[in-house]
Amino acid sequence: MGSASESINTEVLIIGGGFGGIYALHQLRDKLGLQTVLVEAGSDFGGVWYWNRYPGARVDSEAPFYQLSVHEVWKDWNFTQRFPDDAELRRYFAHADRVLNLRKDAVFNTVIEGVSWADGRWTANTTDGRQFKCKYLILATGSSYKKHYPDFPNMRSYKGELIHAADMPRHKELDFKSKRVAVIGNGSTGLQIVQELAREETCQLTSYIRTPNIAFPMDQRVRTEEEENAAKSFYEALFTASKTCKGGFPYNQMHKSWAECDDAERLARLEELWNRGGFGFLIGNYKEMLLDKEVNAFIYDFWVRRVRSRMRDGPKRDIVAPLKQAQFIGTKRPGIEHDYYEALDRPNVEIVNLLETPIQTFTEEGIDGRQYDMVFLATGYDALTGSLLDLQIRDKNGVLLQDKWKKGTFTWLGLGIDGMPNMFMVYSPQAPTSLSNGPPIIEIQVDWIRDAIEKMQRDNIDNIEPRFEAADKWRQGIQDLNNKTLYPLANSWYMGANVPGKPREQLVYLAGVDVYNKACREALQDWNGFEVTYKA
Ligand code: NAP
Repeated sequence: MGSASESINTEVLIIGGGFGGIYALHQLRDKLGLQTVLVEAGSDFGGVWYWNRYPGARVDSEAPFYQLSVHEVWKDWNFTQRFPDDAELRRYFAHADRVLNLRKDAVFNTVIEGVSWADGRWTANTTDGRQFKCKYLILATGSSYKKHYPDFPNMRSYKGELIHAADMPRHKELDFKSKRVAVIGNGSTGLQIVQELAREETCQLTSYIRTPNIAFPMDQRVRTEEEENAAKSFYEALFTASKTCKGGFPYNQMHKSWAECDDAERLARLEELWNRGGFGFLIGNYKEMLLDKEVNAFIYDFWVRRVRSRMRDGPKRDIVAPLKQAQFIGTKRPGIEHDYYEALDRPNVEIVNLLETPIQTFTEEGIDGRQYDMVFLATGYDALTGSLLDLQIRDKNGVLLQDKWKKGTFTWLGLGIDGMPNMFMVYSPQAPTSLSNGPPIIEIQVDWIRDAIEKMQRDNIDNIEPRFEAADKWRQGIQDLNNKTLYPLANSWYMGANVPGKPREQLVYLAGVDVYNKACREALQDWNGFEVTYKA
């Protein structure tokens, strides 16, 4: 739907066509019966999985948990791998689109820039001059949409292919045979690109690493149709458990504290988690891991010995798995790897340790005298807040969000912002976003928004708007809890520390999915923290 000259009026406008956007479209249109339009910058649904098509792209959240709990969607869908790749996730979105008939209310290739509120309605302008007007505005713009380009000297003078990992060419296949390729960055993305490209023996790969990833084993495997079908008898229980636990995955928890165990028992438990693969090593581990430096050091020691035993090249090993702990394990988002450390060991892979030799300058041919045919920027995102600020959204007093958030992020429940009536966020800052499994937290938020709008309509309410005092308290609660953990000691994107000039603060709600859901539901009962305006 939608053409270049149209101005569209609708009850609900959703910005973003990833998991958050499509689930919101389904709930508000199909369950509440509201006229709903979804706008998306890309030419299809998928969100991060539309944009991220880099070599080796694969989700680190395991099946069957990384999907919507909508019965019509899951009953006829089978993931074929424990950790599905990007192409399979795009097929999943196409399936959801078909089953839920989403596309008829979506407008693609549409970038919103300039959003304001007047006379009880939001107006969202597009970069090509169109306009959408709505009563309820839902920002499902994602945590990892705004790309981070470090300011490397002369980067734009480089004449080869310079590609941010989220910006792979969509209509041509890149050929890596006999190519000299640089990958800058060692987050989840850089790790996956290196792991994949290293397999191509004729590709001369150079991995630029500043902070080495502390990655956990994936234990990837095929999921058969029989296995999927058998598991489906229990899907509802699994999806419910995902929303009532801490991390969005109902991993087993440690039932003893660190202090209650001796070293033999601790090692046995670590070994057990390690061998199962996936985020269980983080989410199902001793909770003291992220609270106590000594516990963290013990677990780092376990990690470093496992990893070093897989590598033969001493200098490379010392860069990616140094015996002397230089960062607290788990305080930056860990990668999940298959044969990454073996890949680094290959002769076609070289590592540049940016801590010893930082990048001085790009040249027309490459970096610091080295020649490359391609340079991948796996340098991450202005995460969680970047995509919201890029909307150029103003509150009811005309104040831009970047001015409101100059000194820090203020939301009430990660769901709304003071001065912005009837505006809701999904997969947002100050929610368990990023430190939990995406789909359950998205469903918790969208279900809340659906129920809030239904309650507004039932009770003759025109507008709801978060109170600044509530947002201030919510923010402080997050920072107070953060300060009891090891998270503030890392220069992570959770802390906003990866983008120069961004306020340093914990951007993720840390108390867990279960506690978050309870807080949101309590606020809905009596509109705690909201200014409520009834219809005249
Ligand atoms: P990231 O975690 O922010 O990593 C960016 C990397 O670039 C870091 O190694 C960083 O080094 C480096 N970097 C940034 N600026 C630099 C500079 N000026 N000089 C040198 N190095 C620089 O970004 P990402 O890897 O794209 O991952 C972002 C998030 O997306 C992940 O944490 C994860 O949540 C999600 N993701 C998930 C998957 C998956 O599901 N498998 C895959 C990819 C991404 P420092 O650490 O030293 O700053």
